Amino acid sequence: MKIRSIETFSGPEVAFVKVTAEDGAIGWGQVAPYHADITALVLHRQVAPWVLGCDVHCDLDDLMDLVGEREHKFPGSHLRRAMGGFDTALWDLRGRLAGKPVVELLGGKPTTLRAYASSMKRDITPADEAERFKRLRGEQGFDAFKFRVGAEVGRNADEWPGRTEEIIPTIRRALSDGVDLLADANSCYSPARAIEVGRLMEAHGMVHYEEPCPYWELEQTRQVTQALDMDVAGGEQDCEFSVWKQIIRDRTVDIVQPDVLYLGGIARSMRLASMAAAAGMPVTPHAANRSMVTIFTMHYLAAIPNAGKYLELSIEGEDYYPWERGLFLTDPYRVEDGHVRISDEPGWGIEISPEWLDKATYQSSRVDA
Ligand SMILES: [Mg+2]
Repeated sequence: MKIRSIETFSGPEVAFVKVTAEDGAIGWGQVAPYHADITALVLHRQVAPWVLGCDVHCDLDDLMDLVGEREHKFPGSHLRRAMGGFDTALWDLRGRLAGKPVVELLGGKPTTLRAYASSMKRDITPADEAERFKRLRGEQGFDAFKFRVGAEVGRNADEWPGRTEEIIPTIRRALSDGVDLLADANSCYSPARAIEVGRLMEAHGMVHYEEPCPYWELEQTRQVTQALDMDVAGGEQDCEFSVWKQIIRDRTVDIVQPDVLYLGGIARSMRLASMAAAAGMPVTPHAANRSMVTIFTMHYLAAIPNAGKYLELSIEGEDYYPWERGLFLTDPYRVEDGHVRISDEPGWGIEISPEWLDKATYQSSRVDA
């Protein structure tokens, strides 16, 4: 049975993808968020020509390679982001056909997952961040939290002078020893400064240090990983296997952190998990908002043997992510005791709001049966 059409429903931040097979079976997915309307255009222009007419049960990983080969003049992010939309819609269709959640098609079971509460904010004071974390621990039972250090791609600058030196002990004091603390530097530091900040984190028992140096400077990141005892994590931006091979071969990081959609979908993410597993490295994916990407990541984490300790779950609301409003009919990210639950419904187990779809920009590509 062949795929006959690809439809997209786009806004500037998020775009959903619907695939339809010859017999009318459908599946829903999503391209990577941000400039999603541009990515949707890439999907129709540069992905659809190579994937329309494929069999529903084709070798998707190989088909995605083929798209990269056909579009070899356009390596990089937008192509992979667009491929992720097709891939995730096809997995949903396969799940619906089989009457199984995607996690089962990937070899896992719908289960609960430990989540870490992930802050996206740098403009928040250390005291306010500590208060927020304490409240979330009380209300939702989180026992792992990530906060931001340095300035984003900050050339060693802090968000304001002294914030990093203040937030590390402030958060530690506010939360008891049993709580895992993670930090993200978003490509801020030179190796020397990154190691200095890392030592301060180690002194406060922190466990995960994300993207300490400009992420494209693999050698800089590797220096930090080698110098520190705590785990260094990274890779969310990396969408080409040529780079991932280097990261894994050189142990650039301790924990690999792909984004399922930036990388190009579930099939490619499964391949990456295998590459990391062969090297004995855990996978703690990047999933920084409450669009569908975190649902995809939940199914993925429950299916791979080398899943890291937790799911990333954004704690930001509509003040930070106004575009998350009204995407779904139900909330797939309810937290109980610090855990989220994977739906056991077929496919991704989520319904996109028809009202949201009605307001989106519509485009379609199709082939005749
Ligand atoms: Mg990050």
